[in-house]
Amino acid sequence: MLDVLVVGSGLCGTLAAKHLEGKGRSVLVLEGGPGLPPALPGDVVGFQRAVAPIARSVDQAWAFRAPKGYEWHRVRARGGRTLLWGGWMERPPKDYFDARRKTGAAWPHTLAVELDGWIRRAEKALTVRTGRRGPLHRKLAALGHKAATKRESVLIGQRRMLTAADVSLRSEVRCDSPVVRIEATSEGLIAITASGEALSARRVVLAASPIETARILEFSLPEKQRRRRIDVFDHLIAGAIAIAPRERAGVHPLDAAEPSAVMHPPPTSRARFTTEVRGPTPLESLDAEDLKNLGFTVEEAAKHSFYVVFAMGETDAATPRQVEFDARSLDGLGRPSPRFVARAHTRTEASLGKQMNRQVLGLARQLASSRERAFLIYDALDFSSGGHEVGTCLDRIDENGHVTGLPGVYVADGAGVPAATDRHPSLTLAANALRVADALARSMKS
Ligand SMILES: Cc1cc2nc3c(=O)[nH]c(=O)nc-3n(C[C@H](O)[C@H](O)[C@H](O)COP(=O)(O)OP(=O)(O)OC[C@H]3O[C@@H](n4cnc5c(N)ncnc54)[C@H](O)[C@@H]3O)c2cc1C
Repeated sequence: MLDVLVVGSGLCGTLAAKHLEGKGRSVLVLEGGPGLPPALPGDVVGFQRAVAPIARSVDQAWAFRAPKGYEWHRVRARGGRTLLWGGWMERPPKDYFDARRKTGAAWPHTLAVELDGWIRRAEKALTVRTGRRGPLHRKLAALGHKAATKRESVLIGQRRMLTAADVSLRSEVRCDSPVVRIEATSEGLIAITASGEALSARRVVLAASPIETARILEFSLPEKQRRRRIDVFDHLIAGAIAIAPRERAGVHPLDAAEPSAVMHPPPTSRARFTTEVRGPTPLESLDAEDLKNLGFTVEEAAKHSFYVVFAMGETDAATPRQVEFDARSLDGLGRPSPRFVARAHTRTEASLGKQMNRQVLGLARQLASSRERAFLIYDALDFSSGGHEVGTCLDRIDENGHVTGLPGVYVADGAGVPAATDRHPSLTLAANALRVADALARSMKS
């Protein structure tokens, strides 16, 4: 019998699979979406062009419901959201998890000491590089802002960030095989796919992205134990664009992080959010519709560059958002669809969101040629998703990611992480995936 089935081939599933095969375990990865062309371009533009149609093709099989205008950034294909990501690799602020521990979060009691070593291993596996200071940093300094360089997961030998699909695995990745539930039998665990295929293994790792992982888990448990609603934490995102006279564009360097800038909040600050700045980029690299929305013709665009400024801070940890699996509305695979339960921003979120909007617009106005050439493109006060969901299965697992009600099943993605933190979360998620995979490997030894 196979040792481990890994569900999902995104960042967390891929790293868990890699760690387990390194420990001598036989692994099969089941990916719900399509595969990718064998060779993906190594430059940013060519890569984005090649993966965009695949990354965007989230069809009826993955339908969801949400209040009007709600955007849920997700990918259902080999590599998951790393096909869209910016590759930012941020080390987690330790005090964040300490604060959560004080409020009773079960995972992980020893995070501050335990995660550190896994962060370093994740950085090695994801070839994380620190960028160099460049004209953008000098420009920000002249405007009175002290910014650090980008740390990025880099595809070595190329000019783009790494994706989970670039991490080489010896194990088979079987695409177009969405798993709908796990059954426990006396022989082992069985993963049932949407086509009715039953695959057995001694252990299962769930890394299908936090809401999917929660859906698979809920529908694997006896009906009486299922929750109607699950909690979810995410990021509020604010974004602004600044139009400036044409400046020389920064190019993604070979083997290194691109020259973007980041500003972290001091741990003592009450409003915890990170600000990121990217640019200058030629304005004509935006598509025709975006240019039209900004009021520019292609000819005018050729004389301009733009900067983008983003801010991200966490949704209210004290009042999580909620998702329910709605049996009245089935998706294309016959499963209850996730429904994002509408709610107004809490006071904490409203206050944070306002400060984030002010920050991105203020900085964009400084970078733009005139005040009128700075626009808010993402309003932190909208009820939306940052695409950084976490914490959907906290009460289902122990501190090693082991599902208490389904022995042998492990949660290795953000579903088992109690905070999206005040910055990009994926390095934390990657480190946790390795930590959980290691606990699983140890459980097999014993
Ligand atoms: C536009 C965008 C930009 C981002 N940029 C950054 C960044 O710069 N830095 C950063 O830290 N984070 C970034 N993020 C977040 C980051 O991409 C995610 O945190 C990370 O990719 C999560 O990895 P994952 O493996 O948990 O989930 P995913 O990447 O979502 O992977 C889940 C995988 O499981 C598969 N799957 C789903 N359901 C099933 C099923 N039932 N059966 C089998 N397979 C299934 C999916 O197809 C997918 O391949 C970004 C996110 C977005 C949307």
